[in-house]
Amino acid sequence: MTLPSQAAVVVIGGGIIGCSTAYHLARDHKVDVVLLEQGKLTSGSTWHAAGLVGQLRSSASITRVLKYSVDLYKGLEAETGLATGWKMTGCLRLATNADRWTEYKRLATTAKSFGMDMHLLSPAEVKAMWPLMETGDLVGASWLPTDGQASPSDITQSLAKGARMHGAKLYEDVRVTGFEMKGDRITAVNTDQGDIACDKVVNCAGQWARQVGAMAGINVPLQPVKHQYIVTEKIAGLATDAPTLRDPDRRTYFKEEVGGLVMGGYEPNPQAWTTGEVPNDWEFRLFDDDYDHFEQHMIQAIARVPALETVGVKQMINGPESFTPDGNFILGVAPECANMFVGAGFNAFGIASGGGAGWVLAQWVVDGEAPLDLWVVDIRRFSNLHRDRHWVCERTLEAYGKHYTIGFPHEEYASGRPRIVSPLYERLKRQRAVFGSKLGWERPNWFAPESVEPKDVYSMGRQNWFAAVGDEHRHVREHVGIFDQSSFAKYELSGPDAAKALDWICANDVSKPVGRLTYTQLLNTRGGIEADLTVSRLAEEKFYIVTGTGFRTHDASWISDHIGEGLDARLTDVTEDFGTLSLMGPRARDVLSAVTGSDVSNASFPFGHIREIVIAGHTVRALRVTYVGELGWELHVPIAATGEVFDALMAAGKEHDIRPVGYRALESLRLEKGYRAWGSDITPNDTPLEAGLGWAVKLRKNTDFVGRRALEKVGGASLKKRFAGFTVDDPEIVLLGRETILRDGEPVGYLTSGGHGYTVGKNIGYGYVRSADGVSDDFLASGSYELVVAMQRTPANIHLEPLYDPAMERVKA
Ligand SMILES: Cc1cc2nc3c(=O)[nH]c(=O)nc-3n(C[C@H](O)[C@H](O)[C@H](O)COP(=O)(O)OP(=O)(O)OC[C@H]3O[C@@H](n4cnc5c(N)ncnc54)[C@H](O)[C@@H]3O)c2cc1C
Repeated sequence: MTLPSQAAVVVIGGGIIGCSTAYHLARDHKVDVVLLEQGKLTSGSTWHAAGLVGQLRSSASITRVLKYSVDLYKGLEAETGLATGWKMTGCLRLATNADRWTEYKRLATTAKSFGMDMHLLSPAEVKAMWPLMETGDLVGASWLPTDGQASPSDITQSLAKGARMHGAKLYEDVRVTGFEMKGDRITAVNTDQGDIACDKVVNCAGQWARQVGAMAGINVPLQPVKHQYIVTEKIAGLATDAPTLRDPDRRTYFKEEVGGLVMGGYEPNPQAWTTGEVPNDWEFRLFDDDYDHFEQHMIQAIARVPALETVGVKQMINGPESFTPDGNFILGVAPECANMFVGAGFNAFGIASGGGAGWVLAQWVVDGEAPLDLWVVDIRRFSNLHRDRHWVCERTLEAYGKHYTIGFPHEEYASGRPRIVSPLYERLKRQRAVFGSKLGWERPNWFAPESVEPKDVYSMGRQNWFAAVGDEHRHVREHVGIFDQSSFAKYELSGPDAAKALDWICANDVSKPVGRLTYTQLLNTRGGIEADLTVSRLAEEKFYIVTGTGFRTHDASWISDHIGEGLDARLTDVTEDFGTLSLMGPRARDVLSAVTGSDVSNASFPFGHIREIVIAGHTVRALRVTYVGELGWELHVPIAATGEVFDALMAAGKEHDIRPVGYRALESLRLEKGYRAWGSDITPNDTPLEAGLGWAVKLRKNTDFVGRRALEKVGGASLKKRFAGFTVDDPEIVLLGRETILRDGEPVGYLTSGGHGYTVGKNIGYGYVRSADGVSDDFLASGSYELVVAMQRTPANIHLEPLYDPAMERVKA
């Protein structure tokens, strides 16, 4: 065998993900693709997977990706002649308590929102479908008939054959050993059998993806964890088309296999494998059986399926699988390297994801941008924090342990905290702050009154912080509050061509005079919203860009990647240089003017401006902007001075009743004001026109920008979906997002975010109303609306204007 000396794309790894990616690159894009596998195809994690294929996730796009897998597996044999073992058995999920049942009611609604039918069954119906099961403790079960199971090795071989049929070249027993680099680009792949020059590389190396990435300087934060299941002898009475079964309250799952059962589980005390290098010689290898560790699953499984007590165990599979710190897989172009793409870290749903992940990854490789909103799996959701292997390991084990626990709303991780704290951390803790964590930062979510213990108590209904957050909310509306938003991501773009670069990158016109601040979206070529941020002009050749905490890596890479060829503009991340204090509320000006000699009157410091002012002897960047719909400033303070400036504001604010306020109140305030949140309300799937943000797009100016052509194309045509607000009067309802929107009884969309507005005294949701015939003002206004919340219909009112809009502030100023 001789390797080719060059290829357009080299895919590393012959597991299901690599084979699917190569298949789609060859089939859909006719790309000259070479796949390299160090052992035999499937010999990593793929060959020993249990083969359950579920589809429903909390993200609409990821659900679409998984649905695509199922459609692909169904038809693959017809194309390649190799069977995939696909069986549409459906999946039962069991509930043994009220909270789990509520979770399923919400899930069933989510399924409906995403176009799938999930049913809720009684214990008797479950028993009829799966007679070997003990159902005495059940409240019920959810039933998704289109889920199923497949043979992981067979699918992979079938995809590999399909890839070859479409022209891909696949090589076994070839190990990638390094890369030739030019700057941040790979120019060739080194292997133990020669080099291959290439344009792009796709790292699908499974649990080795971290070390393969490291060879090109990129970080793939995954952790191999031992995962076990058993395969039993035949069990009398078990149907060959028995549904797959998930019993999360007992932490176990089941699948029929040649008349016996596959049974495995997610234990609360998982065992990490190495935090060092994964050995290369791990072809078709497993760990020793560990019945001591597995016993916890065995006990639970026997209680559910008593036949397991007597049936023989044919085999135990104890294999490594890569898990990630948030339970989602890792996809996309690496921020550290312009032409390495990653598809790894599949958290034991790589078989379910394989078909779809290969489809979207291939498209991403070819276009250079994700074909849909893949933010929850995007590699750019991580930061330098995730280079710490021990932190990643600890958080990943926590996520693994929570795989089957009830997903309570607003739940926070507990491990690896505190990790990054603002200078105000101790001060706010003394004020009884209850923190959440975002990209490693501790951020105050709410402040507990003396009568309430400062910790979250999770439940499916209203949680223990509800009233306290209401007080914080009202305080901002009526007096003044101070938010510690130091975790905001901040960059400076400098250079003679900085304005020119931003003209192209930003949808809004940010080339305004020095001292102006602009709210803008960054669009992809489809006109979808890739980022949502503010840009302030500090000097002719210097801009200050502020975005959300979690978007730090993503937005920086998007901006850097889109600085036009040959332009002289440099992006610097200055996040840690500035603490951010947001002073918000009708008394904000009184407080600010008491601590600075600068004129902060509306006339000399209007909305949409940035000024340097001095507070407590420190020069502070003051940004007149708001996310809560009140008068206010974001004060960006040299990080070391954050404490002093905070103290000065608190002292001056005493007579105006100032108080610190947390992120949960911020969320409630922004819901009332109708500000869109990136990642939920506005995503790469949505254009500013659909999102009602057309006013922030410079279509009337004669400047070209990314996404302009796509927006012009839709131009006068009526939009097929439009963003709208909804309120629900019933105080018992809890809106979280993904609830179905009904118009005249018909589903027309689902909520992208939901919460409670304390000033308007209503539950608030936002979402897109869709219609293939176009969504006109009249269409929106003329319908009668309901929301489906946990399977219950509840009347709702539609709103196209902010629910609360103090006249003094105009975001469009
Ligand atoms: C016990 C167990 C049960 C599971 N059950 C399920 C299930 O029911 N449903 C489900 O959806 N998922 C399940 N999974 C998960 C599933 O197996 C994985 O998510 C999936 O196989 C990952 O595929 P992959 O292609 O990313 O990785 P792999 O299959 O590991 O492929 C990566 C390949 O890259 C190759 N490679 C690495 N380094 C190099 C190099 N330097 N040069 C060349 N090649 C290299 C490796 O040899 C390997 O073959 C299970 C996993 C385990 C462990």
